[in-house]
Amino acid sequence: MPHKPRTISGVEVTPLCDAVGPMGPAIRRPLTEMFPGGGLADEPWILHFHCYLLRDRAGRVTLVDTGIGAADSPASTWAPVPGTLPGELAAAGVEPADVGTVILTHLHSDHASGAVADGRPLFENARYVLQQAEVDAAHGAMLDQIVTPIKGQLQVVDGDSQVAPGVRVQLTPGHTPGHQVVRLGELAMTGDLVLHPAQLADPSVRYVYDDDPAAAAATRAEVLGALRAERAVLATAHFSDPFLDLSFP
Ligand SMILES: [Zn+2]
Ligand SMILES: [Zn+2]
Repeated sequence: MPHKPRTISGVEVTPLCDAVGPMGPAIRRPLTEMFPGGGLADEPWILHFHCYLLRDRAGRVTLVDTGIGAADSPASTWAPVPGTLPGELAAAGVEPADVGTVILTHLHSDHASGAVADGRPLFENARYVLQQAEVDAAHGAMLDQIVTPIKGQLQVVDGDSQVAPGVRVQLTPGHTPGHQVVRLGELAMTGDLVLHPAQLADPSVRYVYDDDPAAAAATRAEVLGALRAERAVLATAHFSDPFLDLSFP
């Protein structure tokens, strides 16, 4: 079921819970190896997989990330279960055809696979927003099964851009070359800028699946520092509570 929505800058933001569970054995490693130096106990890591539904007063519908996708998606080799995004959208009263903008924070298979169903774009009326650097780096199953089918609907941006009224994207490279964070007022939908709460306490804690761990750590420290200074609200992809107020000094 979708998590409880919040209204930010007049836009209703609903966290859609695409899946909950541990990573599959293909890529699962102990938490101590996933986040070296994070001081974490060796216990199971149960991830939520969140997408965010934005609905403004003019009826415009924007979706941030599309989750794991169906049972045959590129994420199926390691995701805990198939994604439930279409059901989550229906529970929120939204049909795929209602979505006008889809923003993909990055092309990892648990964030972008739900963009396509049965080899076709699931969101037939949407622009799909990706950073140029992310498109340039696309390869393998994500290129063949996701980027290629949505090619005709791609809106490629380069760096910080406004992509819908009140909605901006910010290039935040490191986790992937063209990772982007999505801003709406004080809200920051952070994709995989932060994977685990340990990285909020210490942004230098690296994640084993960061593409460029040093760049990711530098970006994380810089962006989190700025978000903290403005007392932003985070909307995370993988924490169990989707919203997190950074309203401490
Ligand atoms: Zn959830
Ligand atoms: Zn990722």
